Amino acid sequence: MQVVTESPQETERLAARLAARLRPGAVVSVSGDLGSGKTTFVRGAARALGVREPVSSPTFTIGHRYEAPVPVAHLDLYRLAGIDPEEWADLEPYFDGTIAFVEWPEHGGEWLPATRAGVTLTHVDEKRRQVSIESGDDLGL
Ligand code: ADP
Ligand code: MG
Repeated sequence: MQVVTESPQETERLAARLAARLRPGAVVSVSGDLGSGKTTFVRGAARALGVREPVSSPTFTIGHRYEAPVPVAHLDLYRLAGIDPEEWADLEPYFDGTIAFVEWPEHGGEWLPATRAGVTLTHVDEKRRQVSIESGDDLGL
């Protein structure tokens, strides 16, 4: 599905709708340029999944893990040039029993677990973003 959102709040609401379809173990890739709204999308999904803490960009760490009825992981692989087994050992726990959102998934290469859905955000103008959500299954969105 593809929609154009007109505000960060609208992007968050769309993310919340996707979140309602996810089960423990789900991995969602979130792609797009800097400032396209990836972290905003993850924030909306995390809130909907019961995360109460502020959800901020994990740019200076590889990821955050938030407690919630099903824990939520938020990874940002921007700084990774590639993953070797040692790096994967650091990343793997984020996927254990969580619903995980991964920014810059392309930097994770073949190490990333199979994704339940792929989200791509594109700038339209200052307040509008095209959001595309792809999945092998019908998400009913
Ligand atoms: P990224 O993680 O992709 O770098 P962020 O989510 O951190 O992006 O930042 C997106 C910025 O764009 C925020 O300042 C947000 O308020 C703004 N923005 C404006 N319109 C939208 C929209 N429709 N959807 C999402 N973010 C938007
Ligand atoms: Mg971000």
